[in-house]
Amino acid sequence: MDVKKEKELRDAEAMEQKNILITSVDKFLNWGRVHSFWPVSFGLACCAIEMASTGDPRYDISRFGYEYFQASPRNADLMIVAGTLTRKMAPIARRIYDQMAEPKWVIAMGNCACAGGPFADSYAVVPGADSIVPVDVYVPGCPPRPESLLFGMLQLKQKVQNPAKARLIKHGK
Ligand code: SF4
Repeated sequence: MDVKKEKELRDAEAMEQKNILITSVDKFLNWGRVHSFWPVSFGLACCAIEMASTGDPRYDISRFGYEYFQASPRNADLMIVAGTLTRKMAPIARRIYDQMAEPKWVIAMGNCACAGGPFADSYAVVPGADSIVPVDVYVPGCPPRPESLLFGMLQLKQKVQNPAKARLIKHGK
């Protein structure tokens, strides 16, 4: 290890012992965000039942601080597109997304929201929520179990906490 790096580590250790923590404002805000996603109450089809189950005591979503499903998109920062997104529903989904506060994220839950699912060829179904809203995490399954949604939320946590790393993964590095 080079001398400069070793000195930096020693300084950090000494500050930790004095309970002094140095970080950037962005890191601090992201740390808060990843421990308190507020999903908007928004379900479309069968997958929404699994999403609702995620909030029951068996899965204990409040371990992660994600239990506040908001009735108003203005108080929410996470949209979980849970179910079949029909063309009729698409403009409403987009309006709800537009009304959400920034920064905001989207999870596509289930094969229907990821890519149209069993209705991919239907004239009435949008073949993937990402043609309506920007999706951050895809949770496949028909339907995915609550554990899968929790895993997806934890993946989103990683993404928000390490934006630079997520960008690298996206570009295949
Ligand atoms: S992915 Fe399967 S369970 Fe989910 S909405 Fe589509 S058909 Fe229903």
